[in-house]
Amino acid sequence: MTVCTEAVYLHDATLRTLATEILSCQPISSLSEDEQSLGRTLAPEDSAIVMRQTILYPRGGGQPSDTGTIALVDQEPTFTVSLVRKADDGKILHFGKPSNQDISFAEGQRVIQNVDAERRDYHSRLHTGGHILGVAMEMLMPGLKEVKANHAPGEACLEFEGLLYNEHKASIQEKLDDLVKQDLPILISWAGDGSGLKSLGKDREGAIRIVSIGGLDQTPCGGTHVSRTSQVGHVEVRKVSRQKGISRVSYEVPSIM
Ligand SMILES: [Zn+2]
Repeated sequence: MTVCTEAVYLHDATLRTLATEILSCQPISSLSEDEQSLGRTLAPEDSAIVMRQTILYPRGGGQPSDTGTIALVDQEPTFTVSLVRKADDGKILHFGKPSNQDISFAEGQRVIQNVDAERRDYHSRLHTGGHILGVAMEMLMPGLKEVKANHAPGEACLEFEGLLYNEHKASIQEKLDDLVKQDLPILISWAGDGSGLKSLGKDREGAIRIVSIGGLDQTPCGGTHVSRTSQVGHVEVRKVSRQKGISRVSYEVPSIM
């Protein structure tokens, strides 16, 4: 039977705790070769837990993985999740280790997931800031082709084909401030049949998730977002740089609100 984890974060990114059930728990060293490579930064004796559902975001779309904990019902958190990864078959693996070696996790156990909220909130603001920057650039320079997005702390940026210069910085900043101030809703919708497409934003039926900043754009995306542009706080253009015909607009949002 193919195990496919229900990606609850795609439907409700506000949840920070969830009760669910363990489908498997095994040492990294006993996983398939592909799954082992997803957890290669951890020790082979660490474990991977797969659950029926998850609110923990696996790395993807330029947004880093969540961290968090898994606890048996009515007990203190006993498994620290340091890395979450989605396998090609839709299974979501929670890599980490138990804080107490005496407790074992096994198929069928009811557990409570917790997401590290501060880290997730920052990632959601940073990621949403990237969408707002995308809309600002499209409004200022329609048709400018976006070629890459990174929403990792300290390196968040969008890259575009063509040349942008420092003198663009002020007008980009002005447009960003305006979009944040307008307090636009982040709209989520689902489009048709995404079968054949490889996307993090696919649900179990294969539909693709479309994210829109107040109806101004339509972007396929599986990341986590805040619900209104004002919740990002502020999107600051850090730098406009160029290399080999590609321009990079680096940005930042407040790490704590
Ligand atoms: Zn997104």
